[in-house]
Amino acid sequence: MADTYQIFAIKYARHERLSRYNFIGGDPHDVMMPLDYFVWAIVGEDRTFVVDSGFAPDMAEKRGREMLNPPAEGLKAIGIDPAQVEDVILTHMHYDHAGNHDLFPRARYHVQDREMAYCTGRCMCHEALSSAFEPEDVAVMVRRVFEGRVAFHDGSVELAPGISVHWVGGHTAGIQVVRVRTRRGWVVLASDATHFYANIEQERPFPIVYSVGDMLEGYATIKRLADSPGHVIPGHDPLVMARYPAPNQALEGWVARLDAPPAE
Ligand SMILES: [Zn+2]
Ligand SMILES: [Zn+2]
Repeated sequence: MADTYQIFAIKYARHERLSRYNFIGGDPHDVMMPLDYFVWAIVGEDRTFVVDSGFAPDMAEKRGREMLNPPAEGLKAIGIDPAQVEDVILTHMHYDHAGNHDLFPRARYHVQDREMAYCTGRCMCHEALSSAFEPEDVAVMVRRVFEGRVAFHDGSVELAPGISVHWVGGHTAGIQVVRVRTRRGWVVLASDATHFYANIEQERPFPIVYSVGDMLEGYATIKRLADSPGHVIPGHDPLVMARYPAPNQALEGWVARLDAPPAE
C-alpha cells in the first residue's frame, strides 16, 4: 500500500542497571532492569527517515555504556547508506540520541523548537538537567542551524504522508515522538517519552525528567496516537527485541521489524 512504511529498530548498545533507577521513587522489587540503546529507520517506497543518531564508541567509553555495533553498521546491515540519508528526526538532544555527528552529511535534522531552546538555554545551568546532554552535540546542532540543515517544528507536523512528529515534552522540554503508518496500523516511536513499557503502562515516570506533568500527559498523547498499546515502541526496553522479529536470521538480536505484529 502507498504511504505505509517499514520500521526497523537497530540496537547498538546496552547498559546494565537496577530497576530503582528507572522509576521516580525507586522500585520495591529492585531487580536488574537493563537498557538497550536504539536508532530507528523508517523506510518507505521512495523515502527513508532515520530517527535519532545514537552515540559513538568514544562516548560509550566515556559514559560507561557497552557498545555492541555502532549505529552506522546497523544501518548498513539493512541496506541504508548513511551518506545518502536526507532526513534525520532527532526525538531530543540527549547524548544517546544526538551523537555521531558526521554520519549523515546530506541530512536535514528535524527537531522541536522547544528542544533547541531547552538545550541552549538557562536550564543547562543545572547539572540535574544538563547531565544527559553533551555540549558538543548541542554545538554541532547550532552550527547546523546556521548551515540551513535544521527543520524546526512546533507541536504536531506531518513530514510526509504517513509520518508525523508530535511534541510531548516531559523527559526533556522538547522531546517529540514519531507516528508512522504501517501495514499493521499506526505505530508510535515514543523514544524516551517512555523508556520502558512499564513507564507508560503503569504510569510510573522515569526519573530523568524536566516536567513530570508533561511526561504523564505525554503518556496519554502517545496512547491516543497509537492504534493500541501494542503499537507503542518504548525508547530503551530490551523487550522490544524480544517481541519483534528480526528481518532475517543474521540480524537476530541486532535489528527488529516494528511494522510486523509483536509476539505475545
Ligand atoms: Zn533521553
Ligand atoms: Zn535515551
